[in-house]
Formats: sequence, structure tokens, C-alpha cells
Amino acid sequence: MSSAHSDVKGDAAAYVLGTLDPDDRAAFVLHLAGCEECTAEVRALRGVTYVLAHAVPQRTPRAELRLRVLASLPGKQTASASAPSRVTASSRSWLPLAATIALAIGTVVYATRLQTRVADLETRLERAIAQASQADQAVADARRVSSELQSAMGVLAAPDLVRIDLAGQATAPTASARALWSRARGMVFTASNLPPLPEGRVYQVWVVTGQAPVSAGLLMPDPAGGGSTFFSTSPDIPPPTGVAVTLEPAGGLPAPTGQFYLVGTPGAV
Ligand SMILES: [Zn+2]
Repeated sequence: MSSAHSDVKGDAAAYVLGTLDPDDRAAFVLHLAGCEECTAEVRALRGVTYVLAHAVPQRTPRAELRLRVLASLPGKQTASASAPSRVTASSRSWLPLAATIALAIGTVVYATRLQTRVADLETRLERAIAQASQADQAVADARRVSSELQSAMGVLAAPDLVRIDLAGQATAPTASARALWSRARGMVFTASNLPPLPEGRVYQVWVVTGQAPVSAGLLMPDPAGGGSTFFSTSPDIPPPTGVAVTLEPAGGLPAPTGQFYLVGTPGAV
């Protein structure tokens, strides 16, 4: 039997919103079948709820508004806990910003680390290049020394070897030297006790001939004022009448200009 209109007419709104408990709802549905007034009320309310649901555009609130709303909630911790799905759903609206900030910070950190790594690699590369350059230099030096040694041994074994002993002059009384010369193979010059070179000066070795002296090369003595040097002299030079050493500007000159430090004339080997 249908409920009285006066008893249930107030349930129309709750029915439309779906908040009636099952018994009340069943009673209202039964009543609705025979009551035009309640049917009209339900139809009207459905129209209103539809309009309400669609009249307001759905928006994501600004972050500060959200914080204010959350702060105003009484016992908001409990509220969040009791309705986690709602909080999670609304938090999702702010995630893109948080993700963007995290990504930006991550990118800066990554770029900084990358920069440090690149700087480190550049330093290591420079060091490696310097080491390779030093190694190249060492190999070149070794080749030069080896080549000089072979040349010197060639001179010492030359059948046309001439020995010239040099004596220290007034500029270097304790200095002495010996030149072993082969027209075909060159000269091995060994000196000792030469004074330290003044700044911007160098010793230059000359083959003295009947004509102009011919430069054999430059002499850079060790700290003790000695050392052996191989000079690749030209086989075309006139017969030597002596060998001499002068002090000349760095780089040497085509003809001697400075003081004589060592002078010698050929003797038998
Ligand atoms: Zn009714």
C-alpha cells in the first residue's frame, strides 16, 4: 500500500540526490507511481540538479586557495585521513608544478655535475697531451743522441782521422779541448773547464783554414764547463790549419767576432 502523500512529499529531494535509505526509497518509489504531484516534483528537482552540476565550470583552484581551504578545515588531519581519495585527487592538480620544479632542480644538479666532470676530463686531457708531448720530446732526444753517438763512433773509426788539441787562452787558462776530425765524417769536439757562459752568449767552434774560418757549430758546455759534441762539418772545407773557440752572441755568427777561448793546431793521431 502506498504511503500517504503528506508523509513522503519531503523525500523527493533526498530521492533525487540518492540519499534515501533503502526502505524509505522503496516506499517513495511505490508512492511515486500513483502521485502526479510527487512525480512532477522529482522531474523538476532532477532538472535543477542537472543544471547545478553543469552550470559551474570545473576548475583547478590556485595553490594558495587550496592551502587556505585546507587550513580552515576543522581537524583537517582527520579529514584527510578519512577521505584520502579526495585529497589525493585534488593533490594531483598541483603535481605538474612540483614535478616541473623537481625536474628543474634535477637538471641544474645534473648540469653542474656534468660541468665538473667536463672540467676534470679537460684537465686530464691537457695532462695527457703534455705527457705525450714530453714523451715525444724524450724519443726525439734519444734519437738525436743515438744518431750523434753513431756519428761520433764513425768519426773515431775514420781512416782520415786528424787530432787537434786546443789550449786555453788568457780568457780561460785552465780550459782545454780536443777535436777529432774526419773530412768525410765530421768532428767530435770534447772540452773541459770552460768558464760559465754569460747571459745571451754561446761558444762557437771554428775550423781555421788558409782562407776564412768555417763555423763547425755551437758549444753548450755542461755546468762543469765540459762535454762532447758532434759537429757535422762539410767535406768541402779547405785543409784546416787549426781549430778555435770564441765567445759569440746566442745563435752564433758567420765569422768570429768575440775573444778566443781555445786555440789548437793539427797533430798526428
Ligand atoms: Zn505524492
